[in-house]
Amino acid sequence: MHPFTLSRPVDARDAIAVHSGDPQSAFIAGGTDLIGLMKDRATLPAHLLDINALPMASIDARPDGSLQIGALARMSDVAAHPSVRERCPVIAESLLFAASGQLRNMASIGGNIMQRTRCAYFRDYDGLPCNKRAPGSGCSALRGLNRGHAIFGWSESCVATHPSDLAVALAALDAIVHVRNGAGDRAIPFADFHRLPGDTPENDNVLERGELIVALEVPPRTESRASHYLKVRDRQSYEFALVSTAAAVATDGRAIRSARLAMGGVAHRPWRLAAAEAALRGLSLDDDARLKTAIAQSFKDARSLTHNAFKIELAQRCALRALQTAGARA
Ligand SMILES: Cc1cc2nc3c(=O)[nH]c(=O)nc-3n(C[C@H](O)[C@H](O)[C@H](O)COP(=O)(O)OP(=O)(O)OC[C@H]3O[C@@H](n4cnc5c(N)ncnc54)[C@H](O)[C@@H]3O)c2cc1C
Ligand code: SF4
Repeated sequence: MHPFTLSRPVDARDAIAVHSGDPQSAFIAGGTDLIGLMKDRATLPAHLLDINALPMASIDARPDGSLQIGALARMSDVAAHPSVRERCPVIAESLLFAASGQLRNMASIGGNIMQRTRCAYFRDYDGLPCNKRAPGSGCSALRGLNRGHAIFGWSESCVATHPSDLAVALAALDAIVHVRNGAGDRAIPFADFHRLPGDTPENDNVLERGELIVALEVPPRTESRASHYLKVRDRQSYEFALVSTAAAVATDGRAIRSARLAMGGVAHRPWRLAAAEAALRGLSLDDDARLKTAIAQSFKDARSLTHNAFKIELAQRCALRALQTAGARA
């Protein structure tokens, strides 16, 4: 194990100042991803800043219908919160289908959206090239084992997918990431938080050194209550998504007034199906054929790799079923 020092700041300003001035430092919350990355030698911080003493674990259901979830709230607490379950079932479900009970008790919401790809070339390092681990070295998955990799937005530099289930639900609901740095606070729309790989796949998101996630805000959305998270995976528990869909829908009777669809397991960031959302307006939730055609609008630019062509069909089926399940709750 890589040696490191540990401190436990009780003031966010102190934590941010140390993080900002020391590129070898890293925040640690539940440690369920970071410690694994250190064991895999994918990241080697010399100093860990344990942020668990900071007051950032509350879950507030606000009168305007929004949710404000502290970055240190645990996955299990958020999933079990009555207002989360009532207002945004898609969030509760995305959490309950993730990891294991023990991990969810430890893992924080902030850490969850910061977790890194499960690409085996990145995690289980055996000297093969990986641009995310060693920029400029190449991408072994591009022409290697890529069954679990991206079908949207990938580049020659990296074809990895983002592993967080919660992030997919937050993308569908246009959540906001509240961040604090040395100069003050900034709010990042969820769609802008995670990056596509481009030429710099070592950067997963837009967070800069010295920036601490303090909370996630889920604004009130007309579609949130009739929402569902569907996760397709190789085994039924304790497994990351092959593909997943967060769906939320508002209806007039059986007709779709508006729909929100985001997918996981298909890109370097949660992937919103914007063209499908537009095409779904006015369609009946019972009209399978027209729903399929509408969803297909978002798959025109899907590009498979050697081993993952199956995802293009699987993802569309997943989106259809998630949408209809969400619709049954309207
Ligand atoms: C076996 C296993 C199976 C899993 N299965 C799933 C799954 O199916 N679906 C899923 O979504 N996840 C899954 N996970 C991932 C798990 O959900 C994450 O490891 C967890 O959510 C990370 O939270 P944490 O608090 O432990 O983060 P940590 O490990 O403490 O930190 C992770 C990263 O976030 C940074 N960080 C933490 N908090 C903040 C903050 N407030 N501001 C800025 N940066 C911060 C850290 O510096 C670090 O880079 C699995 C993990 C394991 C080990
Ligand atoms: S897909 Fe990305 S993480 Fe995986 S080997 Fe290629 S560069 Fe590395």
